[in-house]
Amino acid sequence: MTRSGDENKASPASFALTRHFAESYASKTGTYFCSVPTVTTAVLEGLALHREKYGAMLCPCRYYEDPQAEVAAAYWNCPCVPMRERKECHCLLFLPPDHPFAGTSQTVETIDLQYES
Ligand code: SF4
Repeated sequence: MTRSGDENKASPASFALTRHFAESYASKTGTYFCSVPTVTTAVLEGLALHREKYGAMLCPCRYYEDPQAEVAAAYWNCPCVPMRERKECHCLLFLPPDHPFAGTSQTVETIDLQYES
């Protein structure tokens, strides 16, 4: 379900679920969100939209010829294999503390008021 009139935006409910996942996962893995909040919000928005469209949080920073086949393959379902195995997140969502773009928070800073509850 997406907000009426904009098929490229996730619903607030899907965004909230995705934000909760991201905050839990950052805490669990000792990673931090980007020091530029718009990066985090954009990645979460993409994940939330994919959750709605494909039923899984396919990485939003890649192009897929066949998204449903990618979901079934599970390699790029967030957290993807590179993140799970090596803590590598090329979207800059989950960053180790020594990463040059790492912030100091494991809580998403809401920058888009449409997602405020
Ligand atoms: Fe998630 Fe991996 Fe994409 Fe990072 S790179 S947002 S961990 S799927």
